Amino acid sequence: MQVLKFGGSSVANAENINKVISIVQQASQKDKTILVVSALGGITDKLITSATLAAAGDETYTEHLAIIEKRHISTVQELIPVARQSSVLSAVKKQCNEIEDICNGIFLLRELSAATKDRVVSFGELLSSQIISAKFSAEGVENVWKDSRELITTDSNYGNARVDFETANKQITAFFNDKLQNLFVLPGFIASNAAKNTTTLGRGGSDYTAAIYAAALNAKILEIWTDVSGMMTADPNQVSNAKIIPHISYQEAMELSHFGAKVIYPPTIQPVLKRNIPVKVKNTFSPQDPGTIIDNTATQNGNIIRGITSINNVALLGLEGS
Ligand code: ADP
Ligand code: ASP
Ligand code: MG
Repeated sequence: MQVLKFGGSSVANAENINKVISIVQQASQKDKTILVVSALGGITDKLITSATLAAAGDETYTEHLAIIEKRHISTVQELIPVARQSSVLSAVKKQCNEIEDICNGIFLLRELSAATKDRVVSFGELLSSQIISAKFSAEGVENVWKDSRELITTDSNYGNARVDFETANKQITAFFNDKLQNLFVLPGFIASNAAKNTTTLGRGGSDYTAAIYAAALNAKILEIWTDVSGMMTADPNQVSNAKIIPHISYQEAMELSHFGAKVIYPPTIQPVLKRNIPVKVKNTFSPQDPGTIIDNTATQNGNIIRGITSINNVALLGLEGS
């Protein structure tokens, strides 16, 4: 078993999704594969904007919803042959109507709870994963789509829920153990609480979803596919000569991610570290690049410093006295 996760920029449009399909198709010939995907790039932000505008009584939320629907519809139209489009198009339309109904409710009530916000953003990953699953089917690649909310149970801390690993691991192993298929497509980021209400694992949380599946199933490898060729010595947006780190320990990767290296969502390392599952960070747009390996065999490379990170907009507050 291997788990491959593709982030928002990797699935931003039909052209990029085609790259993902070809990488996954090749990989799945070697081993049983779980594919975890993020929402189409920018969609989570747009869903939050729509819900926030609706809560503020700003009618322009409908314009944002129209853009969200158009992006998904045009992705399907470009990606999937016309003869196979109708069922996925109607599923996309149905779910976009549901987002609109929820936002209309938010607009009428002028109220956006954390629970409702999670419900709204969940559609990003639900839509992307269903479109990608439909693309595989259209290509004749048998695959199973499964809603991560039925497998990953969390507490009710909406927006940044904590995973109940005992329940989740049981549900995950029970689901995958008796399946003979070779390819599974699941949404990242989303989960549900004991009452089956939708929760989310925190912004960037699809990496974590993939790690949860990898650990529960004792996968051979967890691959995080993104838009850079690995974990780098610094944020490439800020440091033009940042270099790829070919090999890094779990502890070092965890530390870099906790202190600002956005390439991996911080909680991701913990579940795989526990089971000693190696993590590879790879570039969807340059798949031949070796990327970064994260495991427990990384040795010093002669440099004292493995990488440098930074976090913006931090305030330090000192409190004293009564
Ligand atoms: P995805 O949508 O695939 O999850 P993210 O945007 O979350 O991708 O993470 C990848 C981005 O992380 C890169 O495009 C890069 O700009 C940024 N980044 C910040 N620090 C680092 C680092 N040390 N190494 C690599 N990428 C980094
Ligand atoms: N789509 C979610 C976000 O933008 C989760 C993810 O991409 O990992 O935060
Ligand atoms: Mg990310």
